[in-house]
Amino acid sequence: MRILVADDDATSRLLLKAMVSKLGHECLVAEDGDRAWDVLTSQGIDVLLTDWMMPGLNGPDLCRRVRSELGQRYVYIVLITGLRFPEQVLEGMGAGADDYLIKPVDPFAVQTRLVAAERVTDLHHQVIEFRAQLERANLELLGQSLTDSLTGLGNRRSMEAELASTHARALRFGSHYAIAMFDIDHFKIFNDHYGHLAGDEALHQIAECMGRVVRASENVYRYGGEEFLLIMTDCNADSGLVAAKRVCQAVHDMAIPHESRPTPPPVVTLSGGVASWTRSSPLTALEVLSQSDAALYVAKAAGRNCVHVAAAHDTREAEGAPPGT
Ligand code: GH3
Ligand code: MG
Ligand code: MG
Repeated sequence: MRILVADDDATSRLLLKAMVSKLGHECLVAEDGDRAWDVLTSQGIDVLLTDWMMPGLNGPDLCRRVRSELGQRYVYIVLITGLRFPEQVLEGMGAGADDYLIKPVDPFAVQTRLVAAERVTDLHHQVIEFRAQLERANLELLGQSLTDSLTGLGNRRSMEAELASTHARALRFGSHYAIAMFDIDHFKIFNDHYGHLAGDEALHQIAECMGRVVRASENVYRYGGEEFLLIMTDCNADSGLVAAKRVCQAVHDMAIPHESRPTPPPVVTLSGGVASWTRSSPLTALEVLSQSDAALYVAKAAGRNCVHVAAAHDTREAEGAPPGT
């Protein structure tokens, strides 16, 4: 262990240092409480053997400071005192000491204290390591609970959270956003023709491609089986349409063969539905989502491999304008 002896008396320091070193420990010394504090904060000390009365910080003050300011690193403290009064020993223990020694100190007493100190500091190191492992595991689990394992994209759960916070931000700051829902065209036929493993691989490649072509302010999620959702903050319907078309074009350009589909082109394509929200829109986030879904169906009905934008009159209807205007 790395042990610090804090004592203003040079002879006591030397004696204790000799005892500690003889027991095979590394020993540092400090001639007053302030110097001891400097060493404690910079040298990774396991055990502090400290005198009661010293210039600067005295023994109990040093104990209190170690306990209140040294965070999770545990320093085992043995208070060494010439004061035999039980209430003073208790005061020292209350200030944070783990044990005490009465001067003059004998080597056997030091040895037994250091055996206990080693056991306690080992336990503390284990607790710190377990806690760090637990925190890492928790972070990993949190990541897994928000990530789709096949594509590596955010899953529906994280999409719902992101959409809710995007909507709330837009409401609060009077800004706008757009979303685009995509669905792979004729993917059932793709699976039937090439097999599910090839289907999984295509999903993975498409997700990778989408992640690559969207901007930093745009997030793409796996919404469901072969459906994806793109959330675009500070985007209106026009720029949402441009972004959605860029995504569809990029997936088309990957040219993943899809020869058995009933209509050209003979590659995997996406259809997309875009909906947007502006300050004047009365829609909730879920209603915007449902608009993008409806727009996607229009794109499918229009022949697939295209993007449709939810009509602006949807908003006006909701505001009370007659339908179809
Ligand atoms: P449409 O153009 O109308 O969207 O036709 P579609 O065949 O893509 O749509 P449909 O809803 O009929 O079929 C969706 C297909 O997506 C069926 C399902 O097996 C496939 N799919 C969904 N999730 C996965 C997945 O994780 N892996 C694979 N390989 N296929 C999936
Ligand atoms: Mg689908
Ligand atoms: Mg589909």
